[in-house]
Amino acid sequence: MGLTNVIKVLLIEDNMAEARLLQEVLKGATKQEFGLFHEKRLKNALNTLESQRFDVVLLDLTLPDSQGLNSLLPIISKNSHIPIVVLTNMNDEDLALEAVRKGAQDYLVKRHITLDILVRSICYAIERKQMEEKLREANQTLERRVEERTIQLLKAQELNQLKSEFVSMLSHDFRNPLNTILLSTGLLEDNYDQLTREQQLSYFQMIRNAVHDMNQLLSEVLLLGKADSGKLQTNFCELNLKIFCQQIIHSLHLSFENNNQIVLNFEGDFKNEVGLWDEKLLWHILNNLLSNALKYSPQGGQVFVNITGEEKSVVFSIRDQGIGISQESQKHLFEPFYRADNVGNITGTGLGLSIVRKCVEAYEGEILVKSELNCGTTFTVILPRQQLLMSKMEESVGKM
Ligand code: ATP
Ligand code: MG
Repeated sequence: MGLTNVIKVLLIEDNMAEARLLQEVLKGATKQEFGLFHEKRLKNALNTLESQRFDVVLLDLTLPDSQGLNSLLPIISKNSHIPIVVLTNMNDEDLALEAVRKGAQDYLVKRHITLDILVRSICYAIERKQMEEKLREANQTLERRVEERTIQLLKAQELNQLKSEFVSMLSHDFRNPLNTILLSTGLLEDNYDQLTREQQLSYFQMIRNAVHDMNQLLSEVLLLGKADSGKLQTNFCELNLKIFCQQIIHSLHLSFENNNQIVLNFEGDFKNEVGLWDEKLLWHILNNLLSNALKYSPQGGQVFVNITGEEKSVVFSIRDQGIGISQESQKHLFEPFYRADNVGNITGTGLGLSIVRKCVEAYEGEILVKSELNCGTTFTVILPRQQLLMSKMEESVGKM
């Protein structure tokens, strides 16, 4: 605000004589024009402040409807941008100083007011208030920046922590099969001649399994890494869904020893035997969900796979009657390395479902889980039909 314009002053003073005196004093000002508006009560003054703009408030600290510092706070709280000069009687300088501490910009002792002092005090209060405002804004900007940086830092810390957790769990899961290989090769080396042919073969088998596990772990971690860096893309090829599912189920039946059976059922529209599917992604999805269903089920349990062909999507539902997943665990299922606490001695790395989710995401599909402890679990995966998308594309190309 430039001081060459008229400075609008709101005087809050119940004593008429004092008010008139101040008015007279201000009239004498030559370098700067002042417009004085007078209110006798705090309540009225607050109303006036709401409806009009003022450059400064002159506030008497002894009003009929408010005493001392009590007058200051209501004005400041509603008009934080207006500078205030308090008017006090002689012997009341302590109160005046307290008012300055509480937010007034300056104070004047009534009987000592001269034109010079009054003009200087008003201009000084306005300047000081402007400086305060600028400082406050700068402070706020600074606070905001600190807050933003803190959030960024926390996120980075969290990410770092996640990374180091990931690495330590991964090395742990790698060490198990490595140890098996080390022990088995050591035993074979030292005792080859004393071992029976069957024992030898069983050690070789253990080594082979360990290598297989490590290989599987590595490819899963690579897949997760690809998904995280956005490189997991779909690659659709023609595939006979029924045969593909039967093959997965057949190889799972071979590798699982607990005699659990998978019952496969197709419903809905599969007139076109061959559809467009990303074979790799679909394999990861079905293989992980089915092997979970098998391994988290009791001996001899059944797993029901229902595949429904709908107009725009195919719905895969995999239901088991196994150990189930608690509500609390369901929230974390898809986090890498997460394993629920009811798994007992069933082995696993906790990576399967996080891979499933990434594959479903790459597919732009959906995955849902419904489960009850000790009753069973149903995973439902909904994947959009690709041949529809393709024929739509062809349609729109045809229209062009
Ligand atoms: P792996 O990486 O070898 O698959 P995992 O089976 O432990 O190990 P996920 O497939 O990611 O890992 O599953 C995470 C957890 O979810 C499991 O450890 C288990 O607690 C729970 N879970 C998954 N599927 C089922 C299911 N069908 N029934 C009960 N619990 C399940
Ligand atoms: Mg699993």
